[in-house]
Amino acid sequence: MNTIEKFNNNVMHTYGRYDLVLDKGNGRDATAEDNKQYIDFGSGIGTNSLGYCDSDWVEAVCNQAKSIQHTSNYYYTKIQAEFSEKLCQSTGYDKVFFGNSGAEANECAIKIARKYSFDKYGENRNTIITLVNSFHGRTLCTLSATGQDSFHQYFFPFVGGFVHTPANDIEALKSVVDDSVCAIMVEFVQGEGGVVKLDEEFVKAVRSICDEKDILMIADEVQTGIGRTGKLLAAEHFGVKADITTLAKGLAGGVPIGACLAVEKCSSVLTPGTHGSTFGGNPLACAGGNVVMTKVCAEGFLDEVSKKSEYIFSKLKNIKGVESVSGLGLMIGITLTEKKAADVVKAALDKGLLLLTAKEKVRLLPPLTITYEEIDKGIGILSELLA
Ligand SMILES: *Cc1c(COP(=O)(O)O)cnc(C)c1O
Repeated sequence: MNTIEKFNNNVMHTYGRYDLVLDKGNGRDATAEDNKQYIDFGSGIGTNSLGYCDSDWVEAVCNQAKSIQHTSNYYYTKIQAEFSEKLCQSTGYDKVFFGNSGAEANECAIKIARKYSFDKYGENRNTIITLVNSFHGRTLCTLSATGQDSFHQYFFPFVGGFVHTPANDIEALKSVVDDSVCAIMVEFVQGEGGVVKLDEEFVKAVRSICDEKDILMIADEVQTGIGRTGKLLAAEHFGVKADITTLAKGLAGGVPIGACLAVEKCSSVLTPGTHGSTFGGNPLACAGGNVVMTKVCAEGFLDEVSKKSEYIFSKLKNIKGVESVSGLGLMIGITLTEKKAADVVKAALDKGLLLLTAKEKVRLLPPLTITYEEIDKGIGILSELLA
């Protein structure tokens, strides 16, 4: 039986998968079972931030596997200490909680916000405002937080206490802020929602409403964080700092991780017994994350990401079949004039290019380490397909 048959006979069919079995990766290239090569402009939905099998990353993860692969969180590990220090120092947050995914990082953020408010103001101040078209994860709580009706089906009852308001509408936001609100949660660039960047004015209004009313601002940087937008955190583009920032996707270069960072005023809200995660802060994940942080924070790395971003944006704007380009850094959405994004992504497979979609757009999330040569090659294929 071939791989796809075996897979489909045994794995739940929760994804619309392409008929492609990826077997090996090297740099920005993935190799399929039949030895066909692909340039990857999707990086496993933004997780393989350093590309495939970066040699320093491989060495760190393998060495960690050889020394100690897991302890429970009843003990300390050197690698978690080292990684957490690097993460907190470079992002300017007081403390971090580690989980294994973006959804888990967001669950942690939501729990912190509700308990912060409970500890300080008592019951009934627990509403969390999120934005229409947002995406915050697949657990019941983060689905409830997600501001898209299409996600609010089948699984009733959803978790209460979430209110959704349109992005970039300050008056609408003000109208839903009342005494029951404990947090406002945003993605600076809505990724799954179609690579839609928030207005700076709106983000600043969120920050000032939060300051005024002691509401916690939660930034879901699961997709935008750790260099993806050309800054360590996307918040820097908007001149704000959220009280809580969540990270996942690209943070550990392709091993499962989630992180919830908190500023001092809410960093000791979660006390022993109130939260946990068996795998959270797993040494292999921390070893991978440690290498990612070292490389992304190295001098010049983020400037390079920004330069490549400018290069890609300017190239895309001159391609026939492209109506407009949205996004920030290496998080890019392409609206097409005629062709359907899903058809283009499928056709790109035959030509050896891996792409993503987001809503009706073609989406690019290339590895942060992509080279100009690879950009030229990938965009060359894309423009052929759109011509
Ligand atoms: C991907 C994503 C999530 C969910 O992350 P998982 O690791 O799939 O749980 C949450 N928020 C944003 C903004 C995301 O892009």
